[in-house]
Amino acid sequence: MAIKAPKGTKDMLPEDSYKWHYIEKAFSDICDEYGFGELRTPIFEDTSLFNRGVGETTDIVQKEMYTFEDLGHRSITLKPEGTSPAVRAFIESKHFADMQPSKYYYNTPCFRYEKPQAGRLRQFHQFGVENFGASSMLADAEIIALADDFLKRMGIDEIELHINSVGCRECRTKYRKALQDFLRPHYDELCTTCQSRFEANPMRILDCKSKADQEIVKDAPLMVDYLCDDCRKAFEDLQENLTAMGIDFKVDPKIVRGLDYYTKTAFEFVTTKIGAQGTVCGGGRYDHLIEEVGGPSMPGVGFGLGKERLLMLMEMCGADFGQAVKPEILIAYIGEPAKLYALGLVQELRKNHVRAAIDTQGRNLKGQMKYSNKIGATYSIVIGDDEIESNELTLKNMESGEQHRIHRDEIMDVIRRG
Ligand code: ATP
Ligand code: MG
Repeated sequence: MAIKAPKGTKDMLPEDSYKWHYIEKAFSDICDEYGFGELRTPIFEDTSLFNRGVGETTDIVQKEMYTFEDLGHRSITLKPEGTSPAVRAFIESKHFADMQPSKYYYNTPCFRYEKPQAGRLRQFHQFGVENFGASSMLADAEIIALADDFLKRMGIDEIELHINSVGCRECRTKYRKALQDFLRPHYDELCTTCQSRFEANPMRILDCKSKADQEIVKDAPLMVDYLCDDCRKAFEDLQENLTAMGIDFKVDPKIVRGLDYYTKTAFEFVTTKIGAQGTVCGGGRYDHLIEEVGGPSMPGVGFGLGKERLLMLMEMCGADFGQAVKPEILIAYIGEPAKLYALGLVQELRKNHVRAAIDTQGRNLKGQMKYSNKIGATYSIVIGDDEIESNELTLKNMESGEQHRIHRDEIMDVIRRG
């Protein structure tokens, strides 16, 4: 049987890759404008980075990691998210000693052993940004503004920004107790996953997708009512900053985010257009993560944005991706000397950055013209003995059928003029 791509992975073929180029260019442009520099980290890391970085009670660490032993008996994990590797690189490069903040963006594949479905893959791709070293809510507002601006540039309108505060260690401890007290009488009715979350991470129960659990938590106490003065003030600041930047948002006290490391700000850009996989972008503040990964005590804030979900949503919104690049000209030939002349011409054009094509299958003229249509070349030229002798070529516009007699030396000019 023919070998297939592993479950939950997708090939990206030229008929789609131009869309990826489009969003990637747009994302790196916007990051330049907002002052974030690109960070690339390895595809795999020591497993311990994720065990301590992502948080031991998260879905990722408990059941989704691609972990294996390499030939040197090291435990290796394919990166399931971008933040912990960014933190590791920040610490390892000692950039924490610089004047802060340090602002990074990344564009990376991520690997999670999940049940594949629309918008949920085992190898998926994320854009992300991180701001290390800023405790002020200006930094949170800045990254939210970047995401908002980017999604709008990508032509997405039907998306909402939901924000919440998940508090700090102090206020969350009080809240956690109140939440457990509320949930305890309903423990037996909770789904088995949420029963296991009850001790480890009860806040995640608020986020459960099961209808029965959603019904139970409907009247649960909310984190926003338990925030300490510092966290409450920060949440107010964030809202004030977003308003000043003209960004619409909704306070959604049930957002807790999947990762354990968040403090204060948590946010998501959600759409109802792609069903249960509606979170396109999620992020928040993680004021203890850098220290937990072995760096100094320093705050951080960031987001991850799923590129597959972004593209799905763009397709649904009828967004403009531009077009796949097509050849500008096909050089056809009749006979052996003409083939060599055509080859020389193609190479000359390519050296001048013209997208020039030549048939490599040894087809007859009719076949070469068919091929020209298939690849969508704008112009074609046929080389025969006369052309070799005179250097006078007939340039045909494949769309209009118009033909021009031109000298070989004029070809660049004519193509560039259109
Ligand atoms: P979900 O609740 O949908 O599982 P998550 O909380 O696990 O999302 P994050 O860890 O915050 O997601 O990742 C950031 C973004 O990456 C998500 O908002 C989503 O757009 C995308 N994403 C996460 N997991 C997958 C996946 N398995 N396949 C495709 N995209 C994904
Ligand atoms: Mg998940």
